[in-house]
Amino acid sequence: MVIAGGGLAGGLIALAVHRAQPRLSLALVEAGETFGGNHRWSWFEGDLAGEAATLLGCFAHTSWSGGHAVRFPGFERRLAADYRSLASRDFDAALRRLLPQEAIRTGSRISAIDAGGVTLESGERIAARSVIDCRDFSPSHHLRGGWQVFAGQAIRCTAPHGLAAPLIMDADLPQHGAYRFVYALPLSETEVFVEDTYYADSPVLDRALLEDRIAAYCAAQGWAGEVVEREAGVLSVVTGGDAAAHRALFATPGVALAGGRGLFTHPLTSYTLPFAAETALAIARVATLEGPEIAAMLDTRAAEHWRATGFYRDLGRMLFQAAEPEQRWRIFAHFYRLPDPLIARFYAGRATALDKLRVLTGKPPVPIGRAVSALLGKGAPLVQ
Ligand SMILES: Cc1cc2nc3c(=O)[nH]c(=O)nc-3n(C[C@H](O)[C@H](O)[C@H](O)COP(=O)(O)OP(=O)(O)OC[C@H]3O[C@@H](n4cnc5c(N)ncnc54)[C@H](O)[C@@H]3O)c2cc1C
Repeated sequence: MVIAGGGLAGGLIALAVHRAQPRLSLALVEAGETFGGNHRWSWFEGDLAGEAATLLGCFAHTSWSGGHAVRFPGFERRLAADYRSLASRDFDAALRRLLPQEAIRTGSRISAIDAGGVTLESGERIAARSVIDCRDFSPSHHLRGGWQVFAGQAIRCTAPHGLAAPLIMDADLPQHGAYRFVYALPLSETEVFVEDTYYADSPVLDRALLEDRIAAYCAAQGWAGEVVEREAGVLSVVTGGDAAAHRALFATPGVALAGGRGLFTHPLTSYTLPFAAETALAIARVATLEGPEIAAMLDTRAAEHWRATGFYRDLGRMLFQAAEPEQRWRIFAHFYRLPDPLIARFYAGRATALDKLRVLTGKPPVPIGRAVSALLGKGAPLVQ
C-alpha cells in the first residue's frame, strides 16, 4: 500500500494498517522532511472511543483532566470534557519509531498518482496494489462557506502563568469584524499555547497583526516570556455545496481519497482528527483488498459523512449569513449555555435529533428572519 501525504490522515492510516497487517508492505510518502508539518492537533477525550483512542494513544501527547473552560461577554463556564493535544513533532517521532524503516519516505514529493502506484519528482516509481491519497485539501468552486484564520504561539513564561485548564474559547474580546476568540492551553506550569482565531469572510491571514494581538492578550493576562513554537492556518469552514462534485475534481480512478482532501472534516470546526482516526481504522480492516475496492469503500463513507454532518453546515450558514460579523459570537454564547453532554456530542460530530432541536430553539441569538433565510439559503461561495 502506498499512502500519498504524511499528514495527520496519512500517518494515522499508515500506523493503523501496520498494526492490523504487520506483514503488508507500506510506503508513507511525504514531500516535507517530517510527517505532520508544523501543527498542533487537539481533541476532546470523548471524541474518540475504543480503538480510535488506542490508536492516538500511540503518540506522546498532552492530556488534561478537570475539564475545560469557555468565556463570553457576561459569563464564563467550566465544562467536564477533558482535552488532549498532540504536537506534530511527537506525531513524527512516533511514526518513525513504530513504522518499518522502509515505509518512511519523507522528503519525497509525488508528481503523479494512479491506481498502480505513485511517481516521485525524482523519477522513482513506487508500485502498489492499493493507493490512498491523503495530500492536502484544496478549496473548489463546488463548495460554499467561510474561513477560519488563526495564528498561535507557545510561550515559555518567566513565571507560572496560573491557567488551570484549557481555555477553548475566550470570546470576551474585541471581535475585529469576525467571530474572534483566543484559545489557550497550559502546556506546563510555565508554558502556555495561545492562539488567536477568526471566523472570517475572507481567507486573508495577517500573521504579524495576529501575533501583535497575541502579545497584547498575553500582556493583559500577565504572561511574559519567550516564544518557543509558532503555527498559523487558514481552514475552510464548509457550509454547503456539492461534495461529490468536489471529490470528483480531486479523484483518480481506483485511488482512495481520504483526509481533509476527501472531505472527512467537521464542517464547523474544520477539525479532522476523530474522522481521520475512524477512517484509518476502517482502512486497516480492509487493508488487504485491491485499491479500487478500498476507494469505493471510502467513497461510500465520504457520502455518509457528508449526510451526517449537514446540521453543522446549516449552523455554519447561520454563523456567516445570519449574524453581522461583530455579532457572530452570540451564536456560540447561546450554544455554550446548553447542557454539557450535548456540547460534547456536538463536537464529536454525534449530535442527536433532539440536540439539534435544542441548538436551534430558545431565544434566537440572531434575527429570526435572517436565521431562516440563512438556513434555507445555499451559503456564500468558498472560492470568490
Ligand atoms: C496550524 C493548524 C492547526 C490545526 N489544528 C487542528 C486541531 O487542533 N485539530 C484538528 O482536528 N485539526 C486541526 N487542524 C486542521 C488540520 O488541517 C487537519 O486536522 C489535518 O492536518 C488534516 O490532515 P490531512 O492529513 O488531511 O492533511 P495535512 O495534515 O495537511 O497533510 C497533507 C500532507 O500531504 C503532503 N503532500 C502534499 N502534496 C504532496 C505531494 N505531492 N507529495 C508528497 N506529499 C504531499 C503535505 O506535505 C502534508 O504533509 C489544524 C490545521 C492547521 C493548519
